[in-house]
Amino acid sequence: MLEGVVKIPRGRFSAAGEAVRRGRILRAQGRRRQAAEAFLEALALCPRETDAYWHNTALNELEITEGAAELESKPRSLNMVLSNRCNIECVMCSVWDNPWEMPERALREVSELFPTLGRLMWQGGEVFMSPRFEPLFDLAAAHLNLQQHITTNGLLFSRSLARKIIRSNSALILSIDGATKTTYERVRKKGRFERLLEGIRLLNEARDERAAASAGAPVYPLTMNVTIMRSNYRELERFAEFAHEHRFQTLQINPVDTSGPEDIFRCRDREALPFIEEAVPRMKERAARLGLILHVWLPSSRSPELIREPKPGIEKLEEPKAASSQAVPAFANEIGCFWPWQDLWIDQGGRVRPHCFCGWDIGNVKDDSLMALWNNETMQGYRRRLHANAAAGWCSNRCVEGAILKEALGLDG
Ligand code: SF4
Repeated sequence: MLEGVVKIPRGRFSAAGEAVRRGRILRAQGRRRQAAEAFLEALALCPRETDAYWHNTALNELEITEGAAELESKPRSLNMVLSNRCNIECVMCSVWDNPWEMPERALREVSELFPTLGRLMWQGGEVFMSPRFEPLFDLAAAHLNLQQHITTNGLLFSRSLARKIIRSNSALILSIDGATKTTYERVRKKGRFERLLEGIRLLNEARDERAAASAGAPVYPLTMNVTIMRSNYRELERFAEFAHEHRFQTLQINPVDTSGPEDIFRCRDREALPFIEEAVPRMKERAARLGLILHVWLPSSRSPELIREPKPGIEKLEEPKAASSQAVPAFANEIGCFWPWQDLWIDQGGRVRPHCFCGWDIGNVKDDSLMALWNNETMQGYRRRLHANAAAGWCSNRCVEGAILKEALGLDG
């Protein structure tokens, strides 16, 4: 599941924050020395003891600028799966059939990171099925710089849960893989379309209450996420209408990542892929007309490798070589992606990667502590490759070829 570019306002911004922002701009202009000076200025403004969040942010930006492989700074973004529990049984997913719970030790480690985290992304299974969610959500909500992003199927909202979440510093991403009742219920087995619509109605009611209570505040961000697969690719254009009708601001379109009957990308389906390539431009036009923000993260049918098969284990990385004129395609940016410096993506079963686009795991929370994973050999290998602009052939083609927005590669944030 992908979620990367929802924008919501920060709880606090400080002089250190201004210096960090200046440093990022300077680094993007290639003025690394001045950028490093700005980050050092930010560090001096926010000692760790009094402002853990900005101290860690400034230190992390400095380490990115220096291309450090082993980091003193801690992760700034975390994807979290509490369990595989789910209330539905989607056709393209087997998570619901594999019981798994996040170990208690890892939960403690996660909550220890709250003071320095800027973003916490909750995913499932279905996140609201876990009794551990609400206590952890409340604990995280006490940290004003921490934005929580919740991905849910939207079928379990009560009025009180909708209100609680909409009133917090958070954003919601609803996974909706059918624009019609027939398709929705075919894909989301045990899910009822009417219950989904009721959940969305409760959310919009709570959004209206929040807007009425705080005139001038930004609209609470609501994103719709669609996984495109065999059962729903013909509805591509209808998703834009559905999103608009139900007051979503953003629509994200992702490819299914499976080898099963719903696969159309790994098997390069000869009917589905040309259909999609023709439908996407029409969908973009329609979304623009409706004022929807649309992100289409579907691989091109011309990609040599549409979706990378997950790697079964961790392999020792070769030392990255500096980019050469033959190293094409290469990222357009000096460092193509910041996720290995910023993010830990804990997935179902405790697998950990730098981000969801990444094909190679760095380890598993059942074997290692989060901080050991953060700086292990594989994670450092990601950083070294990216810093040497030698990630082509290792990183996902979708990232390298520019199919992913730079904001979704951690480059703006
Ligand atoms: S560019 Fe590489 S490290 Fe960054 S998200 Fe893509 S695969 Fe992962």
